[in-house]
Amino acid sequence: MVLDCVIIGGGPAGLNAALVLGRARRKVVIVDDGQPRNRVTHESHGYLTRDRIKPAEFRKIAYEEVLRYPSVQHIVALANKVERLDNGHFRIELQDGHQLIARKLLITAGIKEVLSSIQGVTDCYGKSLFNCPFCDGWELRDQPLAVIGADSRIMHLSKMVHTWSEDVIIFTNGASVLEPEQQSELQDKGIEVITTPIAKLQHDEGKLQQVVLLDGRSIERSGGFVVPQFVPKATFHDTLGYDLNEHGYIQVDSMGRTSVDGLYSAGDSAFNGPSQLIRAAAEGSLSGAMIHGALMEEDWSRHPTAQ
Ligand SMILES: Cc1cc2nc3c(=O)[nH]c(=O)nc-3n(C[C@H](O)[C@H](O)[C@H](O)COP(=O)(O)OP(=O)(O)OC[C@H]3O[C@@H](n4cnc5c(N)ncnc54)[C@H](O)[C@@H]3O)c2cc1C
Repeated sequence: MVLDCVIIGGGPAGLNAALVLGRARRKVVIVDDGQPRNRVTHESHGYLTRDRIKPAEFRKIAYEEVLRYPSVQHIVALANKVERLDNGHFRIELQDGHQLIARKLLITAGIKEVLSSIQGVTDCYGKSLFNCPFCDGWELRDQPLAVIGADSRIMHLSKMVHTWSEDVIIFTNGASVLEPEQQSELQDKGIEVITTPIAKLQHDEGKLQQVVLLDGRSIERSGGFVVPQFVPKATFHDTLGYDLNEHGYIQVDSMGRTSVDGLYSAGDSAFNGPSQLIRAAAEGSLSGAMIHGALMEEDWSRHPTAQ
């Protein structure tokens, strides 16, 4: 059977697209391997009507809503190979060798963060260390915070974090990444910059307590932000050849269309910052509508109305 659309990635972007397509009676399969990006955190913030919801609860509600529509199917699997066929359809191969053929493909596989190897960072990430102040700044307001990062993005992040707490210390872990003017700006705001390499983060089940430096000092902090590297969770660039945006993710137009005919992307996969659940869901919704519109036009011209 040729499906109308396969969606690789069932996070908010993919699921909202599936909701639109299911309501439009499209035959859709969501392929998802169950590894959402925010699974490390206990609460999600900033999604109107769902502020402070647990990520697992959000996902449960979303799947219940989407799978009410009988033409939508969910396969728990990893999609590991994708190609575009000569007739414009897409062949999606799952890890177990199972294949799906679809007229349209939506990639909403998200991104993943590559965290610093400093001991304790992974344990604290999602519990007391985060990457996005819009997501978690409110919960850390007025606390003694660390901003940890070894590249130039640390300046912007620290300015941002300072709006939630004035007690901020920057840790560059041995890197010299701040210009002299930036250092004096930070000094004016009372933000200390510590360049000494970090030995480890002392924490209690992920709750940051101290940043322990290699010179033996321990600085008390109860939470903070890090500057991870972000990479696409799945990349099908080699076989599909879509254009990439300036951040290295899938380039889309304002409607979620990629440079490859019939291929769409939304959410973190087409990341161009800031990365948020509600934004991913909104982009997914738009892509779903665009995919339905494209399918409708194709079918309209293929099957003229009987006279
Ligand atoms: C610690 C942390 C806290 C956050 N807090 C918030 C917050 O409070 N508020 C907020 O708005 N945002 C928050 N975010 C950001 C938010 O999680 C993302 O912006 C959002 O999840 C993006 O949605 P998405 O649908 O694009 O991708 P995702 O939610 O990452 O979903 C992608 C899905 O695709 C699946 N997948 C990937 N590759 C494949 C493949 N090859 N085959 C099958 N399935 C695949 C994944 O397993 C995943 O289920 C947080 C992120 C992190 C890391």
